[in-house]
Amino acid sequence: MEMQQTVAGSASFSGIALHTGARATVKVHPAAENTGIIFRRVDLPGKPEVRALASNVVDVQRGTTIAEGKADVHTVEHIMSALHACGIDNCIVDMDGMEPPIADGSSLPYYEMIMRAGIKQQSVPAVYFTPDIPVYATGGKTSLVLLPDAEKLSVSCVTSFKNCPVDPQFYQYELERESYAREIAPGRTFVDYSDLRMLLSVGLCKGGSLDAAAVIHDGAIICKDRLRFENEIVRHKIMDAIGDIFLAGCRIRGKLIAVCPGHPKNVELAGKLLAMRNAK
Ligand SMILES: [Zn+2]
Repeated sequence: MEMQQTVAGSASFSGIALHTGARATVKVHPAAENTGIIFRRVDLPGKPEVRALASNVVDVQRGTTIAEGKADVHTVEHIMSALHACGIDNCIVDMDGMEPPIADGSSLPYYEMIMRAGIKQQSVPAVYFTPDIPVYATGGKTSLVLLPDAEKLSVSCVTSFKNCPVDPQFYQYELERESYAREIAPGRTFVDYSDLRMLLSVGLCKGGSLDAAAVIHDGAIICKDRLRFENEIVRHKIMDAIGDIFLAGCRIRGKLIAVCPGHPKNVELAGKLLAMRNAK
């Protein structure tokens, strides 16, 4: 029987936050069985906690933001993805500001932080959820369906972006910790040049640079070094989806078919899964 897991010790990672441009540190700590994933704002009085649940999501534009009371935590999806992939059920994630460091725009630095902390087996069985029936979240160009599969989580994903040199992109992936580090975690975030100009004009993306994201412009992708994969964008979208659906509050199993996924529908799907879990 698979048991719940936490990190074996503490580990941290520092860098620049994407939107504010401020220096930020994130630090993971072990947590007891059945704690779940909890973010803690250690920079605020009383160190308020925010549970990583779809019911606490307050914003899904350009990233997933969760909040409880006056404490909010932005851009949780990359950390959540690495925790889900590593099978971490219980963890305290300390934040010294509202945003974690963006790093290179991938989840690899978070994965490596978890590996530095180590993974520890706990004393109660792991909780998985798979739906009994297909669960949908659709709207605009996005169409998601999670089909029942009690054995594993797999994601079949298609993306399409205008001006992107490789389009559409497709990738099929079955979640497993070591292959995640090779195939999914290195996929960097990306932004369309016209969106980037708009974000900069309203004072967002202060920490943005080609160190932190790839930019799609005029039929080309501009990034540091070279693309890590020809289909790097779709791999990043799979990474985001693995993180967002973990907001259902436990590890998810099923076959996820995702056409043009994004945070709004990923989180809607996680919310439906959370409600189904709570109704059982
Ligand atoms: Zn992302």
